[in-house]
Amino acid sequence: MNLRYRSILHKSEVNGPGSRTVLFTQGCRLRCPGCQNESLWPTEGGLLESPETVLEKLLVPCDGWTISGGEPLDQLTPITLILERLREEDRGIILFTGYTIDVIGMSLLMSHAACLCDAVVTGPFLKDEVCHRGLRGSSNQIIKCITDRYSARELDEYPHGIEIHADPAVITGFPGGD
Ligand code: SF4
Repeated sequence: MNLRYRSILHKSEVNGPGSRTVLFTQGCRLRCPGCQNESLWPTEGGLLESPETVLEKLLVPCDGWTISGGEPLDQLTPITLILERLREEDRGIILFTGYTIDVIGMSLLMSHAACLCDAVVTGPFLKDEVCHRGLRGSSNQIIKCITDRYSARELDEYPHGIEIHADPAVITGFPGGD
């Protein structure tokens, strides 16, 4: 099954520690009010490519990968195939999902995908709980470290910042940094 995604960003430093390659999936069922990525809600548009083709673009020199969206876990089959291959590398993987820990825990497939990562940022964006610290957009979101590659404190205190990239044209990160 192919993956629908919006873009792959290189050398990002606001989506987790180090210089990261970031995959933004296209499509999100959750539709949190106040979401800053509404253009990533539709399940049409973007690029539709095989996991192998996407992996060719992801397997470049970088400190690690951030998988974001959109909602990556809405495309479980291709995203799991991609995560399984990335897991073979000795580099960090951070996944952002709007699904809660409880929802993920009730799904074997979602749990498997989450466990292929080093850390997972979980939960919907709540506009009344906007947060200005750590890898989360709102304070309800829970950062779960799966391995010891990253410490919970490191991700909890990761400074907010915004990046503007030209190719592809993307504004990314977390507003409200110093
Ligand atoms: S899960 Fe993420 S992409 Fe989807 S609506 Fe919520 S904040 Fe936006």
